[in-house]
Amino acid sequence: MAELNINKNKCVGCGNCIKACPTCALFLQEDKAVVDEEKCILCSMCIDTCPYDAISLETKKCSITAADTYSGVWVFVEQHVGEIKPVSYELLGKGRELADRRKSQLTAVILGNHIRQTSKELIARGADRVIFCDHEKLGKQHDEYYANALTTILSGETPEIFLFGATSFGRSLAPRIAARLQTGLTADCTQLEIDEETGCLHQTRPAFGGNLMATIVCPEHRPQMATVRPGVMKALDIDENRNGQLIEVNYRPDISENVEILNEVNEEAAETIADAPIIISAGRGIGSHKNMALVNRLASLMGAQVGVSRPLVDTGWSEYRHQIGQTGAVVAPKLLITCGISGAIQHLAGISGAHTIIAINSDSEAPIFSVAHYKIVGDCVEVLKRLIAEMETKQN
Ligand SMILES: Cc1cc2nc3c(=O)[nH]c(=O)nc-3n(C[C@H](O)[C@H](O)[C@H](O)COP(=O)(O)OP(=O)(O)OC[C@H]3O[C@@H](n4cnc5c(N)ncnc54)[C@H](O)[C@@H]3O)c2cc1C
Repeated sequence: MAELNINKNKCVGCGNCIKACPTCALFLQEDKAVVDEEKCILCSMCIDTCPYDAISLETKKCSITAADTYSGVWVFVEQHVGEIKPVSYELLGKGRELADRRKSQLTAVILGNHIRQTSKELIARGADRVIFCDHEKLGKQHDEYYANALTTILSGETPEIFLFGATSFGRSLAPRIAARLQTGLTADCTQLEIDEETGCLHQTRPAFGGNLMATIVCPEHRPQMATVRPGVMKALDIDENRNGQLIEVNYRPDISENVEILNEVNEEAAETIADAPIIISAGRGIGSHKNMALVNRLASLMGAQVGVSRPLVDTGWSEYRHQIGQTGAVVAPKLLITCGISGAIQHLAGISGAHTIIAINSDSEAPIFSVAHYKIVGDCVEVLKRLIAEMETKQN
């Protein structure tokens, strides 16, 4: 855990830090700054304002008793009707890296009905062990049964880290598990780093409406739990030569059902850009609402999905589910074509995982070009029309 440290020898009592503190956690005592730990939120604003380098943020060592008994990285692998969500592969990629750095094992946990075959695949995706529970009650994504089964699996196990995808189901299930284990949970992370010395997982996520990136640690409890946004981490290549252990846990439901699932709506039916392999995205440079028809047409010709920058959602030209960026979706398509997008930092936060970016912008100095692999300087409306004409000719 972090702690604000004030060096009394350096502090001259100038009071700059007191003015900068948004929570009134600092005050003067005998002409030296003092911190009220109850009020301090460790935002670091005071550190930057101190001209004498008297303030620092120090990371305390993990204070859990017998922290060493917790070991291993666990990933909850989400599947639906036998199909694994891509974010689970991405988590196995990150989990592998964290487990290697901690010199521990990576365990994939998968629940469902008729999933034995699906479970085996997870070893090729990076897991050392796969724990699976196969039961008809786990055929549907029912939080109560899943939480019950996971608790059964976890009894006697002491993972150091447990990761879930920030899907709608992962966001619902992870807090139930965190509450049962009496540990913390950081939601919607976009970055995970391990402090090899303390074993603390640094879990970074947008905060205050995306204006700040906050790094959160869970020093007092284990496992350290996080949900991670889809499309941010990189999945590993499949390696059929990897060896691992497949462990089946027998599950006997011992709960009274409080929630009955009447109907499941197929998520795939609703367009989701997070997993799209090709995205055509539009920004303010598209000029007018009617030009969105060109973006939609090219997307349909290329079998792509449509993404947009935030101003297009704000003006009502598009819906929020199409928004890419820090406060929208994080995408990792094989091909991304941006049309009239400047490349603001908040937008770039959503496209860093894109494999190939073709940017169209009339301004040759637009920041988007610094991340693009191919650059087209010109009017995006004209370029779109020509691309559509070209594709239509090819199709006929
Ligand atoms: C807390 C916070 C969170 C945010 N979250 C997001 C987010 O999630 N996603 C997001 O996108 N933004 C987000 N924003 C907004 C972000 O800062 C930018 O304002 C936004 O991304 C700009 O969108 P844009 O590139 O479409 O528009 P602009 O910045 O206005 O850029 C338009 C671009 O189009 C080019 N252009 C103009 N005419 C043409 C033409 N005819 N042909 C080709 N190019 C042309 C211009 O040269 C320019 O580069 C956030 C902002 C804040 C403060």
